[in-house]
Amino acid sequence: MLKAIQIVGSSSGFASCRFRKPQPNSAFSLISRKPILTTSETLLLPASQLHSHKSCFRDFRMSSTHSKSSSSSSVAVQSTILQGNIRKINFCQFCGGPNKHEIPDGEEKVRAICTRCGKITYENPKMVVGCLIEHDKKILMCRRKIHPSYGLWTLPAGYMEIGESAAEGAIRETWEEANAEVEVQSLFAQLDIPLIGQTYMIFLAKLKNPHFSPGPESSECQLFELDDIPFDSLAFSSMLVSLNLYIEDIKVGRPKFHYGVINKRPGTSPSDIHAYTLDFHMQS
Ligand SMILES: [Zn+2]
Repeated sequence: MLKAIQIVGSSSGFASCRFRKPQPNSAFSLISRKPILTTSETLLLPASQLHSHKSCFRDFRMSSTHSKSSSSSSVAVQSTILQGNIRKINFCQFCGGPNKHEIPDGEEKVRAICTRCGKITYENPKMVVGCLIEHDKKILMCRRKIHPSYGLWTLPAGYMEIGESAAEGAIRETWEEANAEVEVQSLFAQLDIPLIGQTYMIFLAKLKNPHFSPGPESSECQLFELDDIPFDSLAFSSMLVSLNLYIEDIKVGRPKFHYGVINKRPGTSPSDIHAYTLDFHMQS
C-alpha cells in the first residue's frame, strides 16, 4: 500500500532578479538566480516505511533552509521521492515531456528519463557559501527576516550561483545580507549535510570597512564577542558547527581548516539544531 504525503520543499525552478551594488564611480549589476519556495514535493512510500523515514521526510524541509522567496513567477516542479533520497521528477527539464523512472544502462541509481527526448534529469547536492567575518575579535552575524528560521541568527550565507566562484558567492551573500564589503582570507570549513544534499563552504573574511547594516533578508546585523554569540538562537546546525570549531581554534591559537559531515542524530527533532553528530572530522 502506498501513501502519499505532501510537504513543501526546495525547488529546482529558478527566477531571475537583479541585484545592484553601488560603487564609487560606477555601478554594476549581476543576475541573482534564486531558488523559489513554491514546489510541492510528494513523498510516495509504503506506509510500513513511513515511520522509519519520518525524520527523513521532515528533514527534507531543511532542504529549503536557504531558499529565498521571490515574487517572480516560476514553473513549479512536481517531484516525488521514490525511496530514500531518490526524488521523482515528473517532467523533463529540457522539453517538458513526461519522465519515466528507471535505472539507465551503466548506472546504479534510478533516474528521471524523458520519454520524449531521452535526456536524463540529474539532481545533485547544492553548494551553500558564506563568510565567518572577524572584526576586533568579534564575529558578524545576521538575524534572519525570512523563513525558515525567521528571527534566528546566522552567518551570512546562501546558495552559490552559476557563473561565480565559491569565494565570490560568499562575498555576494555577505553584501546582500549585511551590506558589508569583505575580503576573503581563507577557507575555514567545508561541511557536508548528505541528508539534505547540501555542502557548506564557510570562508574566513575581514571587513574592508567598518560599515554594515541589515540587508533585505536580515532584521539585524551585529558583531558578537565570542562569549556573547547567541548559541541559543542559531538558525542552522551548520552555523553551530562552524562557530564551535572557530571558538575551539581561537582558544588554542589560530583558525584551522575543517572538513566534516553533519549527520542528524536518529530519532531527534528536525528543529533541534543541536541534535547532530560531526563525522569524518578532519582538520589541518
Ligand atoms: Zn525531454
